[in-house]
Amino acid sequence: MKKPFVTAQKLQQITAEFPTPFHLYDEKGIRANARRLRQAFAWNPGFKEYFAVKATPNPVILQILQEEGCGVDCATLTELMLADAVGFAGEEIMFSANMTPFEDFSLAYELGAIINLDDITDLEYFSRLPAVPKKVCLRYNPGGDFRISNEIMDTPAEAKYGLTRPQLTEAVRKLLEMGVEEFGIHAFLASNTLTEQYYPALAKLLFSVVAELAEETGANFTFVNLSGGIGIPYRPEEKPVDIMVVGEGVRKAFEEVLTPVGLGHIAIFAELGRYMLGPYGHLIATAIREKRIHKDYIGLDACAANLMRPAMYGAYHHITVAGKEENPHDHKYDVTGGLCENNDKFAVDRMLPKIEIGDIVVIHDTGAHGFSMGYNYNGKLRSAEILLREDGSAQLIRRAETPQDYFATLNLPLKSGLA
Ligand SMILES: *Cc1c(COP(=O)(O)O)cnc(C)c1O
Repeated sequence: MKKPFVTAQKLQQITAEFPTPFHLYDEKGIRANARRLRQAFAWNPGFKEYFAVKATPNPVILQILQEEGCGVDCATLTELMLADAVGFAGEEIMFSANMTPFEDFSLAYELGAIINLDDITDLEYFSRLPAVPKKVCLRYNPGGDFRISNEIMDTPAEAKYGLTRPQLTEAVRKLLEMGVEEFGIHAFLASNTLTEQYYPALAKLLFSVVAELAEETGANFTFVNLSGGIGIPYRPEEKPVDIMVVGEGVRKAFEEVLTPVGLGHIAIFAELGRYMLGPYGHLIATAIREKRIHKDYIGLDACAANLMRPAMYGAYHHITVAGKEENPHDHKYDVTGGLCENNDKFAVDRMLPKIEIGDIVVIHDTGAHGFSMGYNYNGKLRSAEILLREDGSAQLIRRAETPQDYFATLNLPLKSGLA
């Protein structure tokens, strides 16, 4: 059974102080998980996780991860600004963007970030900068299907990212001429994977390409970036990834492919987002309406604007009714928000305990790609973010939006004087 990381009693305390809806994060869980990841890759002295900022772009969360030895992976100007504001600098920042505006590229350069090139035409940007960085990463797109033991994981041929294999060789040769001294390679070939084979399979592919490129061009490769993609068990019947098994699988591929060709110095990098934060966030909401028509509906004070994944991907998010964990799950509900969009449903035909108006509802696994995918459709406002600290206290780490925030980009005097 999936249990919230916070007790019903604790939630009572927190919701007495902070009105729902809000995203709640678990500092203890975040730190313990980050330490497990480091332990799984302790065999590789250069290992570093660059947390994908887009998953949870909150400075307090980023700071916790920084304290646990992580860097950040940014894709845009504002993500770079956020990283800078938190105190990440130089090679603690990976810049993995695509269709990149020059302005963003230029800030990444100024911050000393490791720039991960997404396209052969990105090379042109280097000639517009004051100098060419000494260390550059290249994003690889192998095309075709990406398979693990004959199962199709995804179809890189349809993905907009990265350089083709011939373009990699061409880019490395040109970058060598431009004075680049250190190279790395990156690929992101499957998302939310629960198989422990994903990283090892990807690593083997990238290690082989690095060995080939080093041989072809003489370039000095110093890291391989396995990017994101390790999944989390959203459904109660799913099993979490054993990260120790993943680390060991990558080590085996390393020993098999890189060590024999004298590339045993290569550092392993990751850009995990979901795996780092997903399970350590809950969307906390209150049941505000019940409606019985052709189906039974529970309406929450949260909506898809606070958590887009169910509406966008039909994603499953587990739901616990706080304090009713042990009650019989004998009521079938659609649990919805109030957007004028019928896909605004956190759950469809979900068996839950009988819900009363005022019950606190916990939506699980919202720590990554939750708050951050929020939007303002229907004039709905983004919620607060709250951190459950290791000492049990609750800290507001982002206030909720107000109507003034919604109107801030307009010059709009309100006439009624009501707000
Ligand atoms: C989104 C993203 C990640 C993180 O992906 P997860 O599925 O959250 O692990 C890492 N790297 C890049 C380039 C991304 O776009």
